Amino acid sequence: MLTLAGVSRSFGGVYAVRDVDLDVADGELRGIIGPNGAGKSTLFNVIGGQLAADSGTVTFGGTRIDRLPPHRRAALGIAVVFQGARIFRGMTALENVMVGAHASFDSGFLSAVLRLPRHFRAERAIRSRAVECLERTGLADWADRPAEALPLGQQRALQVARALCGQPKLLLLDEPASGLRAAERERLSVLIGQLHVDGLTMLLVEHDVGFVMRLVDRVTVLDLGAVIADGTAAEVRADPKVVAAYLGK
Ligand code: ADP
Ligand code: MG
Repeated sequence: MLTLAGVSRSFGGVYAVRDVDLDVADGELRGIIGPNGAGKSTLFNVIGGQLAADSGTVTFGGTRIDRLPPHRRAALGIAVVFQGARIFRGMTALENVMVGAHASFDSGFLSAVLRLPRHFRAERAIRSRAVECLERTGLADWADRPAEALPLGQQRALQVARALCGQPKLLLLDEPASGLRAAERERLSVLIGQLHVDGLTMLLVEHDVGFVMRLVDRVTVLDLGAVIADGTAAEVRADPKVVAAYLGK
């Protein structure tokens, strides 16, 4: 589904992502781990289109996407929940999710959110899809609450709901569990596991290595922008390069 070949990106002459090859199969849940500054978020930005690669190719579902702007990649089915993403304050949980539908509803989206009459039908379609996304993420009871009133765990689920509302084929999650308490973390883990069972292809970056290892099919380890290991959780844990660069610290 997703293939990166020789992807590099540097800032001021220093590689943030270095010659990365990555192959993610349809339906796979892939973990991406590595120490702070390893290039994980940069890699997500290069896949989502927020940052251009300096070299290499990114192919999604057989289409070269590395020159496309972010909204075109979103329309093809790539959704990113960015590290530290904020909810929209002053909107309800439902309205937050409705904003996520813009990737697949092209016309008059804002008018639809503002409930102008000529976009009534689009608004209704978006609303019913948003309700489904809230249900899917366990947030149905929070729909009409102001988003900022949701506990942090539910705010993270809301980010996922918003991404799902664009009906992505590939979902990138950058440290979705950071700052969550154990019970919230567990609930998020169950949600990601359920999306995996549903067949959604995902890349998961998480600081908590245990969280990643329990969930994913395979893990890719980055260090100083480069892939130093790639395999099952057990293979990666036993890899001396990984232990030296990361797990052993
Ligand atoms: P990670 O997400 O693995 O912690 P990042 O992708 O955020 O790592 O960062 C990788 C490297 O690239 C770091 O050295 C960081 O300082 C640098 N970097 C990331 N984004 C920028 C930017 N916009 N400008 C300059 N340097 C950046
Ligand atoms: Mg990061």
